[in-house]
Amino acid sequence: MAERYADVIVDISHEKVDRPFQYRIPQELGQTVYPGVRVHVPFGKGNRDKVGYVVDVSDRADYPADKIKSITAVDEKGVTALSAQIRIAYWLKRQYGSTTIAALKTVLPVKQKLRQLEQKKVTRLPDADKLRAAACVCEEKHQTAKARVLRALAEEEVLPYELIRRKLNVAPSTMQALEKQGFLAIETESVYRNPVKHMDTKERRVVLSSAQSAIVEDVMQDYRAGTPRTCLIHGITGSGKTEVYLGIIEQMVAMGRQAIVLIPEIALTYQTLLRFYKRFGDRVSVMNSTLSQGEKYDQIRRAEAGELDVIIGPRSALFTPFPHLGVIIVDEEHEASYKSESAPKYHARETAIRIASMYGASVVLGSATPSLEAYYRARAGVYKLYEMTDRHGNSRLPSVYVVDLREELKHGNRSVFSAKLRDLIGQRLRAGEQTMLFLNRRGYAGFVSCRACGHVMKCPHCDVSLSEHRGGRLVCHYCGYEEIRRAVCPSCGSKYLMGFKAGTEQIVEALRREFPSARVLRMDADTTRTKESYEKILAAFADEKADILVGTQMIVKGHDFPNVTLVGILAADLSLNRNDYRAGERTFQLLTQAAGRAGRGDKPGEVVIQTYQPEHYSIVHAAGQDYLGFYEEEIAYRQLMQYPPVAHMLAVLVVSGEQGAGAKLCGELAAVAANRAKERAQSLQVIGPAEAAIGKINDLYRHVFYVKHSDYQALVEIKDALELFCRDQEAKNVSVQYDFDPMNTY
Ligand code: ADP
Ligand code: ZN
Ligand code: ZN
Repeated sequence: MAERYADVIVDISHEKVDRPFQYRIPQELGQTVYPGVRVHVPFGKGNRDKVGYVVDVSDRADYPADKIKSITAVDEKGVTALSAQIRIAYWLKRQYGSTTIAALKTVLPVKQKLRQLEQKKVTRLPDADKLRAAACVCEEKHQTAKARVLRALAEEEVLPYELIRRKLNVAPSTMQALEKQGFLAIETESVYRNPVKHMDTKERRVVLSSAQSAIVEDVMQDYRAGTPRTCLIHGITGSGKTEVYLGIIEQMVAMGRQAIVLIPEIALTYQTLLRFYKRFGDRVSVMNSTLSQGEKYDQIRRAEAGELDVIIGPRSALFTPFPHLGVIIVDEEHEASYKSESAPKYHARETAIRIASMYGASVVLGSATPSLEAYYRARAGVYKLYEMTDRHGNSRLPSVYVVDLREELKHGNRSVFSAKLRDLIGQRLRAGEQTMLFLNRRGYAGFVSCRACGHVMKCPHCDVSLSEHRGGRLVCHYCGYEEIRRAVCPSCGSKYLMGFKAGTEQIVEALRREFPSARVLRMDADTTRTKESYEKILAAFADEKADILVGTQMIVKGHDFPNVTLVGILAADLSLNRNDYRAGERTFQLLTQAAGRAGRGDKPGEVVIQTYQPEHYSIVHAAGQDYLGFYEEEIAYRQLMQYPPVAHMLAVLVVSGEQGAGAKLCGELAAVAANRAKERAQSLQVIGPAEAAIGKINDLYRHVFYVKHSDYQALVEIKDALELFCRDQEAKNVSVQYDFDPMNTY
């Protein structure tokens, strides 16, 4: 039998994850040694006996065999919460590709000295009726921030200060003013005691509809039977998904189980958090980016100690070490923010399913516009599918108009606003209602299209749009295909073949020209360098200090502005023609979400979608709010091209300070992958290598290739082979990154 070796970390105090040391696994210990197990090892010159954790196992020695010591024994009491975390780290490393240390750091909390935590709570002083009266007065004076606080306190006697500040978008100065006026008291409570526990809990309870309780009971029945499932709840916003989550968690908690709730940070709204606080009081904790490392560590310690039942947070909340985890909920499971952008580039959905299987927990995914991945698997019976079709309450869907920009050009309108949109903006200004104008520009890499017929220049091999480069070249960033930019449209012969160049600034300028009296706010990466400026803009818009908010995709998510009755999407094609295979999916999701921003209050909403491709299925189905129609067409495209989720795709990115070295290694790695495929006669496809879409960042050159295969594990093996190849290389100044089923093109 071949020798086996274990990487052991001897000092795993959380603040400092040390580098692993390699030890031989004696034959007699055999299969009892695997990642997560505690072992005794001889350490240092004196061979002192130390306890360490196994973080990796392999059949390859990294050092001469006689230099490698042997593990002395397996620690029988070895299965701790930490063991489970290490097993997760090991899985991340294998499944997504990263160093052991990077994987451990993803999973283990950073321990840091914690200054005494201060949590402030806000208590109302006069009674609720007086606050409501005062809120009316504030509203008349257009002091809407004050009014928001007063109304919130009229509903809840005590609220966490953070919740008001962050989620109601209220400035500290406003809070101080209200305190001076005698409306409220701001008090400091030491150490993580959740103030909401004092809240009035005898509020009316919602009675779940039969559709809702059927889902809750079904999930719980599978769980109790010892066959926990992954399920997908497909239901439009407002269909009652969150109530289902709450119902499941409540039953789990009653059984002594714990719950992790993932919600993208941008969707963690005041109302949502309040619902969790009210249901679970100080047994719930929220994790978000405003917490310091120390505060995060503290929460994790509380979770381990059994002081919490529910944790809510973005991606990283997944690694909360609950000893009796019962369910993981992934709300808005289609969100791109669930994919980590640094190694290991894990996806929270897949990782949740893995963690749940370790604990025998259930997984509940929810979305109004499910990812193709989730819906595909639900259709195939891998996940259980629940459809929620009715909406609670009477909020109506907005009216959607699709405007063909080619027609506008024909009629001599070269403005960024179509006649329809201009007309509706004017109406809103006269009615004192608000408008949001949305320009999706993220990842926009200079696609070229015809203004007369809408034809988009695409790669003949990959069916994604080509990107315009200097020197009049059009380049495919999957396969490297290139062609010379043409003067006229190959489809209709028009000379209006050009890149789309309007930015948010140009739109604000156009508004100034056409609506000189309108008050306009702009929100994009330039105007929101700091977290505060982002909140300031949102608060100003919520306070109706502006009539029109112009922004990038950051304005479409999570925010409810009841006075917004018009949403304009200026160029829906921008996201459609991103040079990657998820462009159609992302466009459909963005348009559906953006449309959902209109008419949140009592007033009905209208949406204008401006596009050069009104016949594109993403746009047609988004306008019709027809998820299934969209899914059928999109999955057919993925099937045809063998893109995920039908097959799997691994992106290998080589980053190097030296262009030649990077290109060389990238070429070699692509050849290794291709050879392997040949050897095993696998139906593996290697695409590229090519220069990345952004060929150079910070003086580092980027080269990329893609590998496609129907079986994910085959790609994991390719990744392992490439890692092995790199280990034997003296490649200095070059790093290799792996990204499975990437969300973006490189
Ligand atoms: P989603 O999470 O799908 O957007 P929510 O769970 O937030 O939907 O429900 C939308 C609204 O309908 C919320 O205000 C919620 O309180 C209310 N609601 C949902 N289910 C019920 C119910 N069974 N009875 C009363 N109100 C409900
Ligand atoms: Zn044309
Ligand atoms: Zn191509």
